[in-house]
Amino acid sequence: MQIYYSSAKEAMEEIDALRNFVSDNDEQLDNLIKLSTVLDQKFQEMSEAIRLQISGDRASAKELVRMDRDGGAMESFNAAINEIERIESQLLRERQENVDVARHAAFAALSGFIVAVALLLALLYYLATREIKQKTLASHELKLLADELHRQTEDLTRDRNEIALLNEASSFLHSCNTVAEIASAFPPFTRKLFPDRDGAVFLTAASRNRLDLLCQWGSDDAAQHFAPQQCWGLRRGQVHIHESDAAAPLCEHFGVLGGGASTLCVPLVAHGETVGLLSLWSTAGESGGVDERRIRRMADMVARQLGLTLANIRLKESLKEQTIRDAMTNAFNRRYLEVVSQKEVAKARRFSRPLAVAMIDIDHFKRFNDTQGHPAGDTALVKVSHYLQENIRESDWLFRYGGEEFLMILTDTEPQDACERLDMLRAGVEQLVMRHEGTTLPQVTISCGLAAFPAHADDFDGIVAMADEALYRAKQEGRNCVRIALEDCIAPEPAEPQPA
Ligand code: GH3
Ligand code: MG
Ligand code: MG
Repeated sequence: MQIYYSSAKEAMEEIDALRNFVSDNDEQLDNLIKLSTVLDQKFQEMSEAIRLQISGDRASAKELVRMDRDGGAMESFNAAINEIERIESQLLRERQENVDVARHAAFAALSGFIVAVALLLALLYYLATREIKQKTLASHELKLLADELHRQTEDLTRDRNEIALLNEASSFLHSCNTVAEIASAFPPFTRKLFPDRDGAVFLTAASRNRLDLLCQWGSDDAAQHFAPQQCWGLRRGQVHIHESDAAAPLCEHFGVLGGGASTLCVPLVAHGETVGLLSLWSTAGESGGVDERRIRRMADMVARQLGLTLANIRLKESLKEQTIRDAMTNAFNRRYLEVVSQKEVAKARRFSRPLAVAMIDIDHFKRFNDTQGHPAGDTALVKVSHYLQENIRESDWLFRYGGEEFLMILTDTEPQDACERLDMLRAGVEQLVMRHEGTTLPQVTISCGLAAFPAHADDFDGIVAMADEALYRAKQEGRNCVRIALEDCIAPEPAEPQPA
């Protein structure tokens, strides 16, 4: 009996505890109230049965127990319990489902979050990389710009130095009065302007069929003379560049350089006339690039200046020549003889050197004119004059003294040597073949009278007078011969006398 009461008490406590658990669920609370009511009712019946048993009314107690056994109290109790269990199971399932849903949602949210974070990180990485790239690019561009600026500054400095050098060269060129002065003043500038190039300047000869070396620098590979056809620059009248790896041919006048060289030829043109050629070359064989363009530009500027200077000097020289030379024969004129003769005699006297003067006269020229005509006589006169000019030394002089008469000054020459020299010239004139208007002219001969300083006279007029006297004798003694003023000099054998 004691066990029953403690069990009932425990059961009621369990019911109370259960009530706490289901207090948030009205349906379960109702079911628990029902259960509690059935249980209370049952405990009251049991208490009554126990009381009846204790009081001795066993039959009533028995009946009460039997009634209970047959009655639906236990069934109601079980039904209530089952209902509570069912609802709890359902609630549990729902909760489990909710938990699953929540878990899935949490998982999905977490996955989404992770993906979002990953995307964000990727975006951040992309943006950072792009920023870094842009900064790297910008810094690279900045470096390129700085390099370009530096290069341009260097170019400007070099251009300024080159222009200063060009101006200086131009100023020197302006001050040159002769081509010989150009030959010495020009190379130092070109060496500085084109430090990696050898070079040369050539002058067009008066005949125009030849170029003569004026000066060269860097090496001595330049040709002394060549024909205009041997230079592509002159043939085409424009700058010609040959590079070892390009198609443009190497000019023939660079013959010694060989195929590996880079060359540049700039015709020197002024007032429409080609006065010469500027050539630059390098055997190292560099080609193309900015430096080549710079060299070409500089060479153009130098050539323009040089061409003008050469043309001006030639013009000056030609004007000067016109005043000192006879227009027809190109021999120096009589007026110039006065200047030269005084100087040459003064020099000979000062340095105690001999000086010979020859009077040269064409034989029977009146008759030549009469038979061949005056124009043919002019041709013969010119031809004799050119022959004499071409066959005397650089230091000797030929003057047209008048008509068909020439005066020759042979500097630093002993009378005997002069005599031999003149006889060779005489023999040469005799051999000249002269053509006029398609016909061959008859031969002409010359007679020469020779006198010398100091052997025959002490001043120029005295020498000329002695030479004249010797010429007269040459004419008297048959012409086509050389006679010397005084007997103590050995004259060459006289030529065969010519018919008068
Ligand atoms: P000789 O041998 O004695 O010198 O006889 P010559 O006939 O040469 O001498 P002369 O002095 O009598 O004649 C010179 C001639 O030269 C006369 C003149 O017509 C000719 N003469 C002078 N100057 C020129 C010229 O510029 N052209 C031509 N064609 N003839 C000229
Ligand atoms: Mg004569
Ligand atoms: Mg004469």
